[in-house]
Amino acid sequence: MIAAIGATHVARGDNPPVATPARATFSVTYAVEIASATATTATVRWELAGIDEIARIRLRFDPERFEKFEGTGVLERRRGEIVWTPNAPYAHLTYQAALRHRRAPDKGFDSYIGDGWVVMRTSALFPRSAVLFRRDIEPEPKSRARLVFRLPRGWDAVTAMPPAGTREFVVESRGRFDHPRGWLILGRFHRTDATLHGTAVTIAGPAGAGVPPDRILALLDRALPLMHDLLGARTRLLIVIGADPMWRGGLSGEDSFYMHGNRPLQTPDRTSPYLHELFHVTAPFRPAWDAHWLAEGLAEFYSIELQRRIGELDDRRYTQALRFFARYGVWGHDFTRDQSHAIHNNSAPLVLYALDRRIRHATNDAHSLDDVVHALAQEGGVVTTARFLGTLRRVTGKSYAAFFRRHVYQGEIPPLPDVGISRDTVESLRSGKDAVGKGLEAGHAVVGAHPPDAGSE
Ligand SMILES: [Zn+2]
Repeated sequence: MIAAIGATHVARGDNPPVATPARATFSVTYAVEIASATATTATVRWELAGIDEIARIRLRFDPERFEKFEGTGVLERRRGEIVWTPNAPYAHLTYQAALRHRRAPDKGFDSYIGDGWVVMRTSALFPRSAVLFRRDIEPEPKSRARLVFRLPRGWDAVTAMPPAGTREFVVESRGRFDHPRGWLILGRFHRTDATLHGTAVTIAGPAGAGVPPDRILALLDRALPLMHDLLGARTRLLIVIGADPMWRGGLSGEDSFYMHGNRPLQTPDRTSPYLHELFHVTAPFRPAWDAHWLAEGLAEFYSIELQRRIGELDDRRYTQALRFFARYGVWGHDFTRDQSHAIHNNSAPLVLYALDRRIRHATNDAHSLDDVVHALAQEGGVVTTARFLGTLRRVTGKSYAAFFRRHVYQGEIPPLPDVGISRDTVESLRSGKDAVGKGLEAGHAVVGAHPPDAGSE
């Protein structure tokens, strides 16, 4: 079963094959230089060789983060965009990339250099790009790409990409022009490596930051087999631990996620930030504009559900988690249109829990939400709310259109009498004593675990 899912990933290109493609028609070397531990920018250089088949490359970027583009050939400059017509067959491009970036003006950093370490996504160093090929010259263009870091003395580098030498990585992505992907950490940091259930796991972070790695590995050791059964196996997982003043939450990326060191394996509201991000990283589908409630709701629902299955949550605490969802959810809003944190992380997981109960009840436990999510994972691609509803019907043989109208589009709280949740109980839950402040937690966010084009977020 797992092998079949893995094959699907490779065919879709979400999980790039580990082996270098048989035939590359040109080569790309990405070199990132950080001159000192106090630098605020990196110098990034692209060296291209044998590129007769490349007509031009369009780069799109935030002008606050990228500047000083120079290169061979012709660079047409617009604000936030460069159209580069490189000279063939050899060409190079250099630019400066800012090392610090705040997730939002008043939020923590999602890209940071400080105290001898750098934590960021590769997208902080590489703008989104689109390449126009000359197919008359090469009908099947394909790059072979490497990423090389030139760093201050004693600095190391870990990325979500396979290593190819000291501070050097194999770059493989979807498409014909390979683009660096996922999270990375540079500098002086602690790293722990393990292979768990076929997944090469690396946990890396500044010294003293976060949950001890062996406790994270113990959680993954028990949760990964269940995650793989549900969504398919992945060969690599990098967990990068951040420290203040970085964003105090989790952020998923390709084959990797970021987690602030102050986030626990299980929060006081019983959810698990680590399992939440692991769900995003593993899921080979991405949400359409109207299905963020679904992607976030599934990640949060399975963060408690998988903990229950591996014995980390007993029935009492599991029920407690559901009651927090009810209490801190926002009700009476259309989930497909309202993008608020409370709907994504409280209302949606409770409705998905209720949906799971409905499916199990209606099919005499022959089916569950697992089967529906598993089917979505096998198909991959973009999931809309309508496609999810269609998959539900196909897998379970029943229509849940009325349930969706009431609890997703109208956002009504699902009555769950066996765990003491109804429309009337929400108010009493809100005035209850067991306040944890779930609504005030820093939370987490997903930004394109599977971006539509390589390098975008
Ligand atoms: Zn999320």
